[in-house]
Amino acid sequence: MSASPFRFDNTYARLPGFSAPWSPASVPAPDLLYFNRALALELGLDPDVLDGPDGAAIFAGNRVPEGAEPLAQAYAGHQFGGFSPQLGDGRALLLGEVIDPSGARRDLMLKGSGRTPFSRRGDGKAAVGPMLREVLIGEAMHALGLPTTRALAVAATGETVHRERPLPGAVLTRVAASHLRVGTFELFGARGDTDRVRQLADYAIARHDPDLAGTSDRALGLLRRVAQRQAALVAGWMNVGFIHGVMNTDNVTISGETIDYGPCAFLEAYDPDAVFSSIDHGGRYAYRNQPPVTRWNLARLAETLLPLIAAEDSKEAMSEAIRQATGVIDAFPEWYEDALLTGQRAKLGLHGGDDATDRALAGDWLALLHDHRVDFTLGWRRLADAAGGNEGPLRTLFSNPQAPDAWLTRWRTRAGGEGDAAADWSERAERMRRVNPAVIPRNHRVEEALAAASDHGDLGPFRRLLAAVQRPYDETPEQAEYLTPARAEVTACYRTFCGT
Ligand code: AMP
Ligand code: MG
Repeated sequence: MSASPFRFDNTYARLPGFSAPWSPASVPAPDLLYFNRALALELGLDPDVLDGPDGAAIFAGNRVPEGAEPLAQAYAGHQFGGFSPQLGDGRALLLGEVIDPSGARRDLMLKGSGRTPFSRRGDGKAAVGPMLREVLIGEAMHALGLPTTRALAVAATGETVHRERPLPGAVLTRVAASHLRVGTFELFGARGDTDRVRQLADYAIARHDPDLAGTSDRALGLLRRVAQRQAALVAGWMNVGFIHGVMNTDNVTISGETIDYGPCAFLEAYDPDAVFSSIDHGGRYAYRNQPPVTRWNLARLAETLLPLIAAEDSKEAMSEAIRQATGVIDAFPEWYEDALLTGQRAKLGLHGGDDATDRALAGDWLALLHDHRVDFTLGWRRLADAAGGNEGPLRTLFSNPQAPDAWLTRWRTRAGGEGDAAADWSERAERMRRVNPAVIPRNHRVEEALAAASDHGDLGPFRRLLAAVQRPYDETPEQAEYLTPARAEVTACYRTFCGT
């Protein structure tokens, strides 16, 4: 084995005052439950070196690989609207950064690796089920084409962690474009530490928007880029029916990747008011609230950047900075609506056209799904089949099979304007099947897979579900069982949990 399986090139550790150097806790019995060979190859790592006992020791936190400089990152955040001035990695450690063969820099982070200076009352640990959930949902999101952090490995620790009941412990190794959050900016912004906000902004720019480096209006440019990435991300969530569940500003990335798969869930019967998180009593993070909440979160980022956006330290310059930053925040809804419409058009099998007409067509389709409590994923997927000439499966999703008639006529007229021959419709159906997934990680299947792994040490259901969600657009016989929604009563009672 070479000296280190990773060629670390750490930059965050070089930023003084942003983190605390710390070591992972050692654990009694590392056992690799999951290793993502495809991701390892993408990162330029040797999967054969890591997919075994050496990998288990590293991914459980027992062996710090050469070149790693483990540290806990400091951050703050607005949680359900209230500001927490000091959060930080309470159970995670950034091991270091690696450069993949394409030249992209990625963070490797352990999650569940023990207490840190930011743990507050937490135990610093994580359980097998929630860490395997990060694998399933992250890989599903990746396969659906959404920017996301991904799991490289999950190692069981041989420890028991104490939640509502005793659970087997595990450590996740998470890969991210970076772990910079809106909350990282807020930590220093709230302290009035403009030098650190500037350092952080320049660091973020170097990692995510290097073309802005050195420009005089780069802080405003960074805000705009983050807002545009978040607009695209949240539109992507809405178009696959994903509910993040805990969109606190410490869970909003600067990179535009989805992070922290805790209380997340996928819609089944379409209901824009859907909320699954057990602690989200007010529905702050309900499905339909995700775009406005993102705008709210971006406004918190904007506030931290104001002293940088202002050309000088004067009242006039600050007013101008507020005007400019507000311009970006006010532009967010339009960026979001554009990204949403682009996605919806593809889902409807349409190319460009009149925006208002297509928005209304998509909106009325969703209203139809809502009125008839149609499964969001299957509704869209069966529309693709209808494009291919097979309307029966779509109609059976409605209690009254004639219910979609009027809407289907409108859609056929609109789509037919872009080509109405049989060949055009079969090409359209194919195109629609490449953007309307058949398989998503359905909540009841995720729970079933995690329970088998956590309660019985049986990884079979997890592995089969993972294989299915990694091919979301395929509808092979092996996939068939993963298409079925839970019974409505099961979905109605489904609750998700934070801090697991
Ligand atoms: P989350 O809601 O999972 O994004 O976590 C919010 C904050 O709580 C972060 O600062 C986490 O590091 C911290 N936290 C969550 N679970 C634990 C735990 N078991 N031990 C210590 N800190 C935790
Ligand atoms: Mg978090």
